[in-house]
Amino acid sequence: MAPSSHRLRWFALAGIVAIMLVTALVARIGRQTALDEFVALSESKNVALVQVFSNTVWPQVAPFVAAVSGLSGNDVRLHPEAARLHQAILAYLNGLSILRVRIYAPNGVIVFSTDAAQIGAERGTDAGFLAARAGSVSSELVGRGEIYTVEEAIDDRTVLTSYVPIRRGGAVTPVEGVVQLYYDVAPALRTIERGQRRLVLGVAGVLSILSAALFLVVTAAGRLLGHQHRELQRYGEEIDGAHATIERRVQERTQELLTISRHLEVEVLKHQTEAGALEAQILHEPATGLPSRALLRDRLEQAIILGRRNGGSVALLVMECGASDGSDLAWDRRKVDGFARQVGERIRGVLRKADTVARSGERGFAVLLAGAGDRAHALFVAGRIAEALVPAFSVEDATVEVPERFGIAIFPDHGDDPEMLIHRASLAMSVAQHAGSRAVVYAQEYDQRTSRGFELMSQLRYGLERDELIAYYQPKLDLKTFEVVGVEALVRWQHPYRGLMLPGHFITMAEQTGLIKPLTLHMLKTALRQADSWRRAGLEMTVAVNLSAWILQDVRFPDEVAELLVAFGVPSSRLELEITESVIMAEPMRALEILSRLSGMGIRLSIDDFGAGYSSLGYLQQLPVQTIKIDKSFVVGATKNADSVILRSTIDLAHNLGLSVVAEGVESREVWDCLAALGCDAAQGYHISPPVPPDQLTRWLKESPWVVARVAGQMESPPS
Ligand code: C2E
Ligand code: CA
Ligand code: CA
Repeated sequence: MAPSSHRLRWFALAGIVAIMLVTALVARIGRQTALDEFVALSESKNVALVQVFSNTVWPQVAPFVAAVSGLSGNDVRLHPEAARLHQAILAYLNGLSILRVRIYAPNGVIVFSTDAAQIGAERGTDAGFLAARAGSVSSELVGRGEIYTVEEAIDDRTVLTSYVPIRRGGAVTPVEGVVQLYYDVAPALRTIERGQRRLVLGVAGVLSILSAALFLVVTAAGRLLGHQHRELQRYGEEIDGAHATIERRVQERTQELLTISRHLEVEVLKHQTEAGALEAQILHEPATGLPSRALLRDRLEQAIILGRRNGGSVALLVMECGASDGSDLAWDRRKVDGFARQVGERIRGVLRKADTVARSGERGFAVLLAGAGDRAHALFVAGRIAEALVPAFSVEDATVEVPERFGIAIFPDHGDDPEMLIHRASLAMSVAQHAGSRAVVYAQEYDQRTSRGFELMSQLRYGLERDELIAYYQPKLDLKTFEVVGVEALVRWQHPYRGLMLPGHFITMAEQTGLIKPLTLHMLKTALRQADSWRRAGLEMTVAVNLSAWILQDVRFPDEVAELLVAFGVPSSRLELEITESVIMAEPMRALEILSRLSGMGIRLSIDDFGAGYSSLGYLQQLPVQTIKIDKSFVVGATKNADSVILRSTIDLAHNLGLSVVAEGVESREVWDCLAALGCDAAQGYHISPPVPPDQLTRWLKESPWVVARVAGQMESPPS
């Protein structure tokens, strides 16, 4: 049960009690007020009545009162006047609703009474009489069984009695007697009681209605509150229920997960045990014990992640190792594996610990160079592996030679995921196989123009054999004396059906496929032959040949150059080799060794494209070079302020270091003048002469305006 219903009952009970109390109080107050009013009214009526009496009857009575004064009760009764007065008074009272009248003499003796037996009685001590004799009216209700002093029984009726003083001359005259009047107030009381009953009933009714209404409101409110209370309780219970359900579910789920996790733990343990055995099979290739493709891919991924974080590079070399005569194609699996094991061992022998060699496919190997895996290092490692594979292998009864073909891809230059790098390194290897090159670094053009690339490479190979590669020559002129300080040999490919091709179209590919070595040697021969021919014609000059990266990693190169110098009878001081700074930076130690040997032979060395790279002059000074060639990109803007500042400081610094300075790409008279003003030593460019075939240069050497001006000693006004 709702707690309010209990209270509600008390509330109802208290309401009833309150109504009863209020009604009783109202009744009592109402009755008292009504009676007081009634008494006051009756009294004033009595006063008026007595006033009339004193004016009419009293003059007859007064002498009698005076006459009987001092007589005994009986004598008063028997006084001869008494009967007449009695009649007169009764006549006066006739028609008035007065039950009894007494008249007192001032001494308290009753001189008249409607009850004749009382005449002559002494009542001088009566309180009402005493008050009236003192001048004031007093009244009281006397009823049967009432608390009021009962003087005597009057037919069982409630009466009002009033003591009224008699004064004939108003309030200032002496009291001559006292009249006591008795009224029957029963009818009046009945009327009062009737009114009172109505009042009580009305009040009680109104209060009851109000109370009932209040009760209803309270009950309704209570019911509403009770309802809400029950609702809240229900919600509370529901929430408790939901809570319990969730808790139970969580417990169940936790239990479930615990079970699963225990189950998984067992599974993992089981798998670990199995995996231990499996790993060797999955991650290592069984026949050679080398890492498998899967492990390679994994390590490659790790290396890429590391490289990405440290900004390092990763190189991937792939190679195919088959017998050069193709005899291995007839071998059975056992023999192939035996051969692969030997190859794997040799490759591993030249690698660092951190590098990985994996077997991929029957004849395939892949080498992962982590850490400093840049292009130059990759080419270097390819060279070392190639050296290691030179001694012939003996496989069972056969002796096998291995032609090395490497494909190289570098992270981040050529891709940033293992698959991409593997794919591109493989592509580069195909290029190497087609071109008959030892190692090819992936280049973007292979993706789109692979077949064209393959084609061009094999054509270049044959082109070299068929002397399609020729040299054009471009003179370098002393800016002060106009003397030809040398000529630079620049390769051109006289392609059978593409026409004359500039080096930009094939040098990079030649560098990547290893064809650059035969190309360079071919250019050296050509240039030295030409130098010898000019020397014989009385034109003594230095010829310059450009060198590529690969060459400076090849320790046999200085000896080969020396042999050529001897073969063509050209003094080493007449040969100049141009190298770009990036070539030196790639593998500085080995490059320095080779450069020192070349320099030691008396060959002049110059740094090509100076300014395009980022090495400092200070560093280059440690190299055995005599000249720097300032890159075209700086020379073109020589007349502009910013570039001229760079040019001036470069030239000054180079001079301070004892280097001579050649500016390449001189295309105008203005640039020439500018360079002359800056103190540059020599100039090369279209303004002087473009690269031309040897015959043309021979003519130029004799007839050009520069030569004419020099001969004439007119170097102040160079040709425009
Ligand atoms: P390089 O060594 O800087 O050669 C100078 C290049 O500038 C040549 O381009 C030449 O034709 C061009 N040139 C000459 N004067 C001017 C001029 O006034 N203005 C402009 N804009 N260019 C001028 P080429 O012959 O196309 O050779 C391009 C590059 O190919 C060479 O740059 C060199 O790095 C390379 N190269 C040429 N021949 C050989 C070679 O026999 N072996 C090797 N390894 N590289 C070679
Ligand atoms: Ca050059
Ligand atoms: Ca250059």
